[in-house]
Amino acid sequence: MTPNSEIVARFGGFDGVDVLEPLISRHYKGRIALVSSFGAESAVLLHMVSQIDRNVPVIFIDTRKHFWETLSYRSKLVDRLGLTDIRNIQPDADDVRLLDPDGALHETDPDLCCHIRKTAPLERALGAFDAWISGRKRFHGGARASIPTLEMADGRLKIEPLARFTASDLDAYMRHYDLPRHPLLAAGYRSIGCMPCTIKGGTVDNPRAGRWFGSSKTECGIHWTRNGRPINLSRS
Ligand code: SF4
Repeated sequence: MTPNSEIVARFGGFDGVDVLEPLISRHYKGRIALVSSFGAESAVLLHMVSQIDRNVPVIFIDTRKHFWETLSYRSKLVDRLGLTDIRNIQPDADDVRLLDPDGALHETDPDLCCHIRKTAPLERALGAFDAWISGRKRFHGGARASIPTLEMADGRLKIEPLARFTASDLDAYMRHYDLPRHPLLAAGYRSIGCMPCTIKGGTVDNPRAGRWFGSSKTECGIHWTRNGRPINLSRS
């Protein structure tokens, strides 16, 4: 087995399918998953992975707070791309019962809400894998402005094949393969997360402006390392 440090050095300068293909087909075969929000730009990465191996597990974090349009779009893309292993992960029922009994935790403590609905379920799901693929891009700015294509995080290889893609690159890819667009794009959304924490708006340069609008929160926490997380529930 090739050491992780060698993988990072050898493939860290590649993008898109060029970095995905050797990792999915050889180095992490059977040990790699794609995490997708089925959001505004998700079709590009889902399509790339499906072209290499449509049996790669795709983890969808079903927070129970998504727009119905996102769930509908997920079904449409899965059918179109022939993806065979969609893993719909949900929050722990006891966490929700104890910490968010009325479903309004996002209003009072969004970090805790993201933890029980996103971070903790994903951490449990990733336990079965040695590498995972994410769809962040540098042009989204903020903490994403300098993300590497490959890095080790919490003992796993984290792959960001689209890190260096621009908004124009993504649009060109969507057009070339005639991929369906998320239905909320036409309604004025540029970045789409949970319904209570997403509003219309954003710009080409700052598409995530409509996420947690009016607060200082910019990330849900699934991209923080364990040491970087502000919350550590003893039971999760
Ligand atoms: S994005 Fe909002 S609703 Fe979704 S898990 Fe985070 S705080 Fe909760």
